[in-house]
Amino acid sequence: MKITDVECHVLLAPNYDPSFTSSAQDSFLVILRTDEGLIGIGECDVNPWIAKACIEAPGTHTMGLCIKDMLIGADADDIAGIWRRLYVGTAMNGRRGAVVHAISAIDMALWDLRGKARGEPVYKLLGTPRPDPVIPYASLQPAGHGFEAYRDALCESAERARNLGFRAVKTEVTMNGPYAHSGLRESYDRHTEVVAAVRKAVGPAMTLMVDVQYLWDDAATAAAVAKDWAEFDLYFLETPIWPDYLDEYAKLAELLPMPIAAGEWLATRYEFEDLMDRGRIGVAQPDVGRVGGLSEALAVCRMAADRSLAVVPHCWKTGVSISATAHLAFATPHCPFIEYLPPQLCVETLRRELAAEDLEFVDGTIAPPTKPGFGVALNWDAVKAFKVA
Ligand SMILES: [Mg+2]
Repeated sequence: MKITDVECHVLLAPNYDPSFTSSAQDSFLVILRTDEGLIGIGECDVNPWIAKACIEAPGTHTMGLCIKDMLIGADADDIAGIWRRLYVGTAMNGRRGAVVHAISAIDMALWDLRGKARGEPVYKLLGTPRPDPVIPYASLQPAGHGFEAYRDALCESAERARNLGFRAVKTEVTMNGPYAHSGLRESYDRHTEVVAAVRKAVGPAMTLMVDVQYLWDDAATAAAVAKDWAEFDLYFLETPIWPDYLDEYAKLAELLPMPIAAGEWLATRYEFEDLMDRGRIGVAQPDVGRVGGLSEALAVCRMAADRSLAVVPHCWKTGVSISATAHLAFATPHCPFIEYLPPQLCVETLRRELAAEDLEFVDGTIAPPTKPGFGVALNWDAVKAFKVA
């Protein structure tokens, strides 16, 4: 099965708000077409105009080749070979960051094609499927412009998730730092107040994770605040420190009782190797649409298994990436949770309208998908409506 075309779609929701911190307001879709008539669908999480340029920019020398040119005519089933050729062929422009994020979309589309060609859901092609169900956690949606409104919105969102049957939730608690919600500048005591309020809202039985979105620059400051959060029984504390400060991550891991989770922005297994071995994290969070696709996410899962670490993948895009993430989890026994929001709970237009996934949320778990490939049904009317380049 030969690749005959590489279509790049830059999508943007017409109601997008540049002051809102959500990368699900845009999307970059890759459609790989083949001489057998099958199509592979992939998505990545980086500015979609940048992703399109990464794939379509003409090559100018042997270590800066054009990704699209390398793909046309290639055997679509040679996923590992294609990945290596794209990685090496773009090495002087890529190896990390946007180029690897863009390759993630290609890799995802290749796995979708392999599943469709074999008539199997992708996860069944990845080794022994896990015997236990995949458990999604709900990311709580903040709102409001002041402390009380922010806290109350997270508590209400937590209750909605519990009523829908979720067994686990993740709350952001970000009222300061680079990701601060709605320009808030609140004290760390108030951050503790929000964690306490959300724990109270969900009750003691639910798994609770906290994401402070790079709130601190050093371990001492982070630990002085977060040590008081041990009483709230957190499953993990996500990205407490700016991602470049790996030695501070390692120090914090020594100081806090709860595991530290990180990795959502990383590209390639090599960045995860640093995060795991120098940063000493407890939970790895590869994003299938950034790390280098399903292939590279699987490599990160193997590295985590070697180090007895859990994997809880990050995903904040449409049903395309959510499906790929779920398939990864169905083949990964040390993946206790995945990030998943049902479209009806989500405010982002593209999440609600672009793609329907073959995932059924039943009794707080996700049932194994059954359709070939990633089982994604793309809404072509939405592709047309939201395409801007
Ligand atoms: Mg996060």
